Amino acid sequence: MDNTDRKSYLRKVKRVVIKIGSSVLTNEHGEINEGIFDLIAAEISKIKTSGLEVVLVSSGAIAAGMKKLNIDKKPDDIVMKQALAACGQNTLMGIYENSFSKNGQLTAQVLLTHAGFSDRKRFITARKTVFKLLKMGIIPVINENDAVANEEIMVGDNDNLAALVISLIEGDLLILLTNIDGLFSGDPNKNKDARLLSLIKEVNGDIEKYAGKTYGKTTTGGMVTKIQAVKSAAAFGVPTIIANGKIPSNISGIFDGQDIGTFFLPSLEKLTGRKHWIAYALKPMGKISIDDGAKKAITDSGKSLLPSGIKSVEGDFDIGELVLCVDGDGNEVARGLTSYSASDIKKLAGQKTSNIQKILGYKYSDEIINRDDLVVL
Ligand code: GLU
Repeated sequence: MDNTDRKSYLRKVKRVVIKIGSSVLTNEHGEINEGIFDLIAAEISKIKTSGLEVVLVSSGAIAAGMKKLNIDKKPDDIVMKQALAACGQNTLMGIYENSFSKNGQLTAQVLLTHAGFSDRKRFITARKTVFKLLKMGIIPVINENDAVANEEIMVGDNDNLAALVISLIEGDLLILLTNIDGLFSGDPNKNKDARLLSLIKEVNGDIEKYAGKTYGKTTTGGMVTKIQAVKSAAAFGVPTIIANGKIPSNISGIFDGQDIGTFFLPSLEKLTGRKHWIAYALKPMGKISIDDGAKKAITDSGKSLLPSGIKSVEGDFDIGELVLCVDGDGNEVARGLTSYSASDIKKLAGQKTSNIQKILGYKYSDEIINRDDLVVL
């Protein structure tokens, strides 16, 4: 694939999710830089006028709260961060509204938590609202509802939030704007030979290694969460571009077909909506360690996970919750919805399916995780 193919992908895009990181919206001291909002709004208005539907996912609430309250060091205290986000979110939206109005565009604030994606009813409600806004020509600006998000219900970073928004609104391109030009083959600050990777066909171990080395300083997740978002979008059949948002003209440049940032191709095999939801929208509640035979059966032959292949169980999960399946080295092999609780699986580990009834006194199913509820990663 070369730049021509990239162009042909981009020509098909109708609905794009653009995530703008705090590092783009702040200056070198971490303070909100109002000037860049005008430039970004002008660019986004331009691509919208050309016919694209645009949904923004924007960070910056905590940074805006810090500026408002004259605090110059990001606190470690979680409640204080939530309070700062609450102080800053309205300021952030005010700046967006002002900048977009100069281009004749209206914006709307949508605040979500993880529950907005994992809970079907909330998912559908949020989806309908965003679709309605798009239909009315309004630009939705999404952020995590930091003030109410605790550990259990938070996404935690806006890269993964943006990938979830792709599935929420069936977007067909994800753009992650940050303060570096894309993914490099090393840390560009430390290694002068590190080169910008312009095309990634598949996220493999090497790519994850590069990402691990190029952690951003001011951002929440750096490259690590960006690569997680890329994988989630790719499994949904959607390409991602990681590009430098400090150069706002990159936004229209991307759609003019310029070779900007790193372009990640989508996976060849797209997961169904339900399997994508299992793999990327739910939070794992525990871990099941499986033996090599079970690993082979689920990865090579698409089989269900049976009690005989289970070595041990971690966590306190219930029936129907998401669990990770890991191999002997602790590597994640698959994830799926369990048919038995953690305490039952402990009793069933290593046993034959035919013994389930005898051991537990009842039987819900022959499998610990049915193949229809299992996603191999
Ligand atoms: N929701 C956070 C904020 O608005 C940002 C999270 C992130 O940057 O990933 O400050």
